[in-house]
Amino acid sequence: MHLEASRDRTISMSMLRAFIAVEIPAEIQQNVYKETSHLRKGLDSLVRWVPVENLHLTLKFLGDVSPSSVEFLMQLLRIEAEAIQCFTIHLAGLGSFPSLKRPRVIYIGIQAPAALDALQRGIESASRRLGYESEERPFSAHLTLGRVKQNVTAVEQQKIRQAIEGIQVDLHGSARVDSVHLYKSELKPGGSVYTRLYSAPLKKANQ
Ligand code: ATP
Ligand code: MG
Repeated sequence: MHLEASRDRTISMSMLRAFIAVEIPAEIQQNVYKETSHLRKGLDSLVRWVPVENLHLTLKFLGDVSPSSVEFLMQLLRIEAEAIQCFTIHLAGLGSFPSLKRPRVIYIGIQAPAALDALQRGIESASRRLGYESEERPFSAHLTLGRVKQNVTAVEQQKIRQAIEGIQVDLHGSARVDSVHLYKSELKPGGSVYTRLYSAPLKKANQ
């Protein structure tokens, strides 16, 4: 029993939690935070907000990855990224998954050209070939702003919905995407800490 537990701990210590994402420029992160400050204040007790510097666009959550797989993931990312041309993304409105009525995740939508979908599809199928679990839900580009706490009541859900629907946000901001990154995520008491492990450039326009 004891041995089992300590062995498990050793295994989980050597694994790392990884995901693939597009970085959001600090200026846009700040704009998102500024434009949503009223919303965030009003819902502070009901939602766990993502720290401003952690706002990002996830393309693939890999979960636990062994250190020896990192090399393969880097190669995967390099190959998929070099097949796609640089593109521009734009911030869109606020929304909530799975629905406004049952808000679990509060997000900012992302408008992007077909290149983003192509990049995501390429990464998704290449990771499936490497044995990583596929996402069941269709891809929907977004920045997670916050996660609704587990124990909220129906009345509180209603309050969240009204806050999202009632707020006027002027989310201007577009970002040129010229690379995509493999991140390590460490769950620390103060929140998740992301570290870039590898960056892969996209194909330059007219190349
Ligand atoms: P925290 O878990 O502390 O709230 P976080 O969700 O940002 O922070 P991670 O859980 O490590 O940090 O997730 C990293 C990225 O992967 C985030 O974009 C997150 O939304 C996404 N992600 C995490 N778990 C899953 C999952 N099971 N399926 C799909 N995406 C996920
Ligand atoms: Mg998480």
